Amino acid sequence: MQDHDSAVDRLRHRRRTLPELAELDAVEAQGAAVDSRLADVGGRRWEVARRQKLLEDELAMVEHKLAEVRAKLYSGTVSLIRELQAMQAEIDALERRRSTLEDHVLETMTEREPLDEEVAGLESERARLDERAGALRAALAESQTVLDGELAAELGARAEAVEGIPAEVMTSYERLRTRLDGVGIARLVNGRCDGCHLSLSVTELTNAHRLSADALLHCEQCGRILVR
Ligand SMILES: [Zn+2]
Repeated sequence: MQDHDSAVDRLRHRRRTLPELAELDAVEAQGAAVDSRLADVGGRRWEVARRQKLLEDELAMVEHKLAEVRAKLYSGTVSLIRELQAMQAEIDALERRRSTLEDHVLETMTEREPLDEEVAGLESERARLDERAGALRAALAESQTVLDGELAAELGARAEAVEGIPAEVMTSYERLRTRLDGVGIARLVNGRCDGCHLSLSVTELTNAHRLSADALLHCEQCGRILVR
């Protein structure tokens, strides 16, 4: 029973401390860091893209207006010199505005380029981390399934071993296990308790020999149940 309980404790400990778990934690923390940088850089890129869109919309409007005025100017329907001069002045003004807008669009494109690159880099880093996390989760599930199988086997064997053991012995054993690092029963080897590794006194050993085979013997040093 003690052997099975110790094996169960070891298996549970291994299940809690699987190396995949620690690595998965680290990968998830890296993923969260990448996400927060993505939110920051993505936000800045979005702001630049919004400015670029406004400039491009205005540029399209200016070009449309230019085409309209030019078409009217060359249509021959306007003949008054003053009116023609006014139209030419409007065309000049629109062309200046167009040139300024084109410069601004180029500026926003230049501003956006490194942000686009940074976002792309972060997204591929995020994808790499997601892939790693997926592989770790699969490996973790596999290890856990194996350990769960071993645990079930140990618990089954323990249930068999426990059968027929009196309740008061079980209570005493469980209490000792809680107090003594999971080990409530030790073997008596050459007059020594292999739980605390101390030798029993001669009196104690003599008493032990006098006890009937099914009487409980406790180590006088650590209190563990001793198996003779
Ligand atoms: Zn002992």
